[in-house]
Amino acid sequence: MTDRYAVFGHPIAHSKSPLIHAAFARQTGQDMTYEAILAPKDGFATSVAAFVAAGGRGANVTVPFKEEAFRLATRLAPRAERAGAVNTLVFDGGILGDNTDGAGLVADLTRNLNCSLAGRRVLLLGAGGAARGVVEPLLDQQPAALVIANRTVSRAHELADLFGRGVTASGFDETGGPFDVVINATAASLAGELPPLSPAIFTTDTLAYDMMYGRDTPFLAFARGHGAATADGLGMLVEQAAEAFYVWRGVRPDTAAVIASLRAA
Ligand code: NDP
Repeated sequence: MTDRYAVFGHPIAHSKSPLIHAAFARQTGQDMTYEAILAPKDGFATSVAAFVAAGGRGANVTVPFKEEAFRLATRLAPRAERAGAVNTLVFDGGILGDNTDGAGLVADLTRNLNCSLAGRRVLLLGAGGAARGVVEPLLDQQPAALVIANRTVSRAHELADLFGRGVTASGFDETGGPFDVVINATAASLAGELPPLSPAIFTTDTLAYDMMYGRDTPFLAFARGHGAATADGLGMLVEQAAEAFYVWRGVRPDTAAVIASLRAA
C-alpha cells in the first residue's frame, strides 16, 4: 500500500512541501504520497488524529502549529526537545516529534553555500520558533561567537540562557560587529519590514541569510547595500524537507536538483 504523508499548517495553500516531497519520492523510487492539509487553528490535534486513523505514516508541521506539535508528541528526538518545537512527526503507534529546521539551515549554509561556520562570528536575528530550532545545530559547528538579537530583548536572553556555551543576547541596536554570517530568523520579512540594524554588522565578507524565501526582502536589500553577499531560505526549506524524508524513509534525496528546479519556477 502507498504510504501517506502530509504537511499541516494554517494557511497551507502556498506550501511548496508537496512539490518537494513528490520530487524526492520520484527521484528515490519511494512509494508514497504527500499532501497539504489545512488544519483549523483550534483543531490541529483532531486533524492529525484523523490523518493517523486514515493510515498516515508521518507529517510535517508548519506555522502556527510547531509548538502544539511539540506537546502532541509522545516521544521527542533530542534536537526537538532542545528546540522546544517540532516540524516533523512520525506515526509509529505513538507519535515521535523531531525538528529538522536547524539541520536544514546548517546543510544549506555549509554544503550549498560553502559557508563554513567553524571559528566564525554569527549573528542570529529573532528568538521565535525558527530561531529556537537552529541555535543548537549552529553551536555544533563551533562558531567563535553566537549573538542572538531580538526585538523583545528578554526573549533573546531567555533563549541564550538555555544554551550558555558562549551565546550572548542583545537588542537589534547593540549587537556589536562586524559578523561573518548574519541570519534573519525574524518574521519581519513576512511583513516587508527591516529590523533596526546597524550597517556596522556587515563587511564585504559577510553572508546575510534570510530564512524567508520567494521574494527579495528589505533585510537582503539592506545587507547588499552594505556590501554583503546574500541568500534566501529556499535552500533551507528543501534541506529541512530532505532531513524529514530521511527520518521517514531512511534515504537521502539529492537536494541540488530540487533547489534548482524550484528557483527556475
Ligand atoms: P515566530 O512568530 O515564532 O517568531 C517571530 C520572531 O520575529 C520573533 O523573534 C519576533 O520578535 C520577530 N519579529 C516579528 N515581527 C518583527 C518585526 N516587524 N521586526 C522585528 N522582529 C520581528 O515565527 P517563526 O520563528 O516561526 O518564523 C520566522 C521566519 O522564519 C518566518 O519568516 C518563516 O517563514 C521563516 N522560516 C523559514 C523556514 C525555511 O525553511 N526557510 C523554516 C522556518 C521558518 P518578538 O519576540 O519581539 O515578537
